[in-house]
Amino acid sequence: MYSVAMSDQNLMEKIVSLAKRRGFIFPGSEIYGGLSGIYDYGPLGVELRHNIKQHFWNKFIAERDDVYGMSAAILMPERVWEASGHTELFTDPLVECKMCHERVRADQSEAIAAHEASHKEKIEWSSPSVFNLLVETHLGASEKSATKVYLRGEITQGVHVNFKNVVDSMHPKIPFGIGQIGKAFRNEITPRDFIFRQREFEQMELQYYIRPDEEEGKRQFAFWKDFAFSWYQSLGFDKTHLRLRAHAPDERAHYAKDAWDIEYETPFGWKEAWGIHHRGDWDLRRHSEYSGHDLSYFDDSTGERFIPWDIECSGGVDRAVLFVLLEAYREDELGGEVRTYLALAPKIAPVKAMVSPLLKNKPELVQKAREVRKELQKVHPAIAWDDNGNIGKRYRRQDEIGTPFCVTVDFDTLGETPELKETVTLRYRDTGSQERLTIPEIAERIQAAVQ
Ligand code: ATP
Repeated sequence: MYSVAMSDQNLMEKIVSLAKRRGFIFPGSEIYGGLSGIYDYGPLGVELRHNIKQHFWNKFIAERDDVYGMSAAILMPERVWEASGHTELFTDPLVECKMCHERVRADQSEAIAAHEASHKEKIEWSSPSVFNLLVETHLGASEKSATKVYLRGEITQGVHVNFKNVVDSMHPKIPFGIGQIGKAFRNEITPRDFIFRQREFEQMELQYYIRPDEEEGKRQFAFWKDFAFSWYQSLGFDKTHLRLRAHAPDERAHYAKDAWDIEYETPFGWKEAWGIHHRGDWDLRRHSEYSGHDLSYFDDSTGERFIPWDIECSGGVDRAVLFVLLEAYREDELGGEVRTYLALAPKIAPVKAMVSPLLKNKPELVQKAREVRKELQKVHPAIAWDDNGNIGKRYRRQDEIGTPFCVTVDFDTLGETPELKETVTLRYRDTGSQERLTIPEIAERIQAAVQ
């Protein structure tokens, strides 16, 4: 069934359309014409995104003894970005079309080709110039006293500038990590491919601080590279659709001693999903210099003081949303009809199960189904209710949003066939098959699937 996905050149359009139609993702401020590279998440999209973030938080932060969570502000002073090198180096090469003056990233051959194809005549490009991606604004009531600030271009710096606060308040033993999830902003020259390249997006990151030692650096880097790769797979990806790729030395960011990407095979080629970067002591050293605060670490087990090195895991939340939708999209035939469904991993599916009474106009069925839903919500709150239309239509609606289970209460549940009393029908999304189980058995299945 996967073949529908990657061989289908219209897959992106299908995803964009399903995302809008079923309340996952909408163009930002659409009724005002929208903004390029800006999207809003609807009722189901926000759940899917939340579940991915929660899975990150559980595995990278909550379940570990050596990692702390935090949440830094979006607005940060100019000096932070001077220290991190972003005001100087966070740039992309830009070329301008001499005919219509549209600007395109010089290193994106697809964008160049698409623009050239949009003109009938042969066009000329300006020579490349550098363009800084940071989004700036001003804080303060009067123009004179207003301070220039930046909407963070990456969430990373919010962690580094709090390194000392976390050390002083939590007294962690090295090695230890600090993780966070939050919005980042980049004035991308050519936002494209739906939510793949946006101007406002969310990141989930871990900064893992280690002793400044080459061997330790290699060991920790290898550990986090594998950890991030298996975590990404656990979102429901087929192993062969993901790969790890090392950056060539000239491709690495200004701070990176080593850098790898996790890439996903999209209909528009292999694309970066996640980065693992060996940032060395770049950030803490620069923030020490620029802020005048000593950001070294004192290791009381050895009596040494040093600036730790940082191994970073950095993933885009929105890219994960897009990639799981691409991966999960299926079309097949069920009961002689074509259907569309999302084979989402139950732990990230926006709705875990839907409960419905076989008939809407039978109060005794409705009441029993309401009780069943309440019971199942003890396992997970995201248990939906649907009593609209016939049962087949309800199942199809849930298939299309990736709900793994549907539960139907009928007259047998109430005891019409005595041996079936207190049992309900459980229907599986991927196969459409059904079985009769008790409510505690169904609760157990849901519990096991959403782990
Ligand atoms: P790219 O090469 O695609 O521009 P990057 O190497 O600049 O990405 P990083 O700075 O390493 O990206 O950011 C970490 C993660 O944040 C990326 O792996 C990606 O998942 C996500 N990300 C970066 N830029 C964007 C964007 N414009 N829109 C959505 N997600 C993004």
